[in-house]
Amino acid sequence: MTIIYIFWLCIIFACLYFLFPWIYGHILRKIQKKKALSTNTIFLTFDDGPGNRLTPQILAILKENGIKATFFLLGRNISGREHLVQSSIKDGHMIASHSYSHLHAWKVLPWKLIHDIKKGWSAVSAAVISVTVNAKHVYRPPCGKLNLFSLLYLWICNVPIIFWTVDCLDTWPESKRNINYAAQKIEAEGGGIVLFHDFDRATDSLDSYVLASLNAVIQTGKELGYNFSTIDKLYKKRN
Ligand SMILES: [Zn+2]
Repeated sequence: MTIIYIFWLCIIFACLYFLFPWIYGHILRKIQKKKALSTNTIFLTFDDGPGNRLTPQILAILKENGIKATFFLLGRNISGREHLVQSSIKDGHMIASHSYSHLHAWKVLPWKLIHDIKKGWSAVSAAVISVTVNAKHVYRPPCGKLNLFSLLYLWICNVPIIFWTVDCLDTWPESKRNINYAAQKIEAEGGGIVLFHDFDRATDSLDSYVLASLNAVIQTGKELGYNFSTIDKLYKKRN
């Protein structure tokens, strides 16, 4: 009898800890996608940076095209690259957080993850001189994963959680990559939240892929007359 109770307790725990945040994330992603598509908007988002090689090149492309984007910074990559964060802000882009160490919410203890989220916010705040040290920044969960405690914590902190709807595939295996994939998906769906990565990889072999993919999305968006916006348009109430 005891074994059956333990079994059901484990099932209930797994549903609450993994499944509920996963379903919530899935619904939130759909809502965010609907908002993007209903306004024919493209949200360009860059994760895991800043990077010494890609971030300046991305900023130059965005400036050339008069487009504002959102950078989900990885706390551990900020040190020594604060000037890139400040350049992004100066150019009118939005700065958000992607945690400090990129921990997977299903693979670490919940308090370790919450500590990492807080550490990520502090690193962003330290680089963004105009905000207070304890500021909480818009958050994108690493690998798109949340657990029950990280979700509750973000709710308590009243922090918007942002997902993506189109992946440019720059972290996928070579056989899956396609420079035009994100642009084609944007065209087929009518907008979306596009995910790129601007961190320093071990080699620069993928930098040209990211830049070409970004240029393809911008070109497609402009040809179709779509809007480009920072991610705050997804959760801020219209006046
Ligand atoms: Zn990431």
